[in-house]
Amino acid sequence: MESKDDPESMTVPPEGIPDLECAICYSQFNNVFRTPKKLQCKHTFCLECLARMNVKSSQPDTIQCPFCRALTPLPTLGLPKLDNDTSIMSNLPEAMQHVYSIRFIRSKARLQVKHPQRVVPLPQLRTVSSSLDVGPPSTTSQTGSHETGTRHRLPCMPPCKMFIMVVVVLLIVSFICIIIIMTKTS
Ligand SMILES: [Zn+2]
Ligand SMILES: [Zn+2]
Repeated sequence: MESKDDPESMTVPPEGIPDLECAICYSQFNNVFRTPKKLQCKHTFCLECLARMNVKSSQPDTIQCPFCRALTPLPTLGLPKLDNDTSIMSNLPEAMQHVYSIRFIRSKARLQVKHPQRVVPLPQLRTVSSSLDVGPPSTTSQTGSHETGTRHRLPCMPPCKMFIMVVVVLLIVSFICIIIIMTKTS
């Protein structure tokens, strides 16, 4: 029996020191939004990347590993309840050993710290806000039109249409008022 490529060899080098960077975003793992989350295939990615993938996925109940395409069913309590990769966590700085409770609101594409007041004291988290938007990046860059997965682009509901209707109604009302005033004064 030949063994197919061992998934564990991809994240854990032979030396036993795990890669402290997420293989998707190349950011260092931390104990807030970039908590290392281990999928069932033993591949580890940061919570933020998994949340971004889940928001875009057509199957919200499973997460597909971007490396080996294995499916991992999401815990009933949500994405943040996936197992932390303890081997990576133990290699993070001591200040990051406490993992914060994160809430993932898929409908709003948002990660939120459950107790934001406890995040503030850590100096390395000065820039970390208590919530993080993990929506599709197309909301910030309008030029990204190379997406083949989501073809149904919402035809942006024009607020100008509403505005024109309001203006037309106002014009009609004022027109009627003018006529009434003119007939009264004459
Ligand atoms: Zn990542
Ligand atoms: Zn995998």
